[in-house]
Amino acid sequence: MNPDWAKMQGRLPAIVQDADTLDVLMLAYVSPEALDLTRSTGQAHYFSRSRGRLWRKGEESGNVQHVRNLTLDCDGDALLLGVRQEGVVCHTGKATCFHHPLLGQPPALQQLWRTITERKAKPEGYTGKLLADENLRLKKLAEEAGEAIMAVKDRDRAHAVREFADLQYHMWVAMAAMDISPGDVAEELAKRAQA
Ligand SMILES: [Zn+2]
Repeated sequence: MNPDWAKMQGRLPAIVQDADTLDVLMLAYVSPEALDLTRSTGQAHYFSRSRGRLWRKGEESGNVQHVRNLTLDCDGDALLLGVRQEGVVCHTGKATCFHHPLLGQPPALQQLWRTITERKAKPEGYTGKLLADENLRLKKLAEEAGEAIMAVKDRDRAHAVREFADLQYHMWVAMAAMDISPGDVAEELAKRAQA
C-alpha cells in the first residue's frame, strides 16, 4: 500500500510514539520528500505547516529522532512512527508534546518516566540531585530495596505498596542515569519470554 497523498493535499499526519515505551510524543505532518528522507536517513523529517518547509526533527535543538519503525494506516492517510528520541521531544522541555490534560490524568508510570526524562535533560529538584550524585543514587536504591524487603517480611501490604513505589522510582532514576529505558528492560523480558 502507498500513502494517499492526493487525498490529503500532499501532507499526511504522523503520530510519533516512543518505540520502546510506546508513549505518544507528538503529532506532525509529513510530505513525500520528508518521508523519503526519513526512510533514507533513518532520522525523522517532517513538513512544517507554519514555516512552509521541510525540517529534520532536532536540526536546531539536537533532539533528533531515530526512526525504528514506520507504519501506514488502513486507508493510507496517516502514519505512525516509532522513534528513539534523543533528549526531549517538546520545545517546552517536556517529554511529550501532549502535556495539557483536559480530562483525566496520564498513567502514573508513564508520567513518572516522563518526569525523570525531563529532569535528566534539565537537572533540577530531588531527581536532578539523584542523577548528579552516583553515591546518593546507589545508597537510596539499596535503602529502598531494604525497606521493601522489611515491609514484605512484616506482611504489611499498605507499607509494601509505598516501599515498592519508592523502589520503582529509585530504580528508574538509576536506569535513566545509565541511559537505560523501561523499553530496554521490556526488550530483555521479551527475549526471556521466547526462551
Ligand atoms: Zn511540543
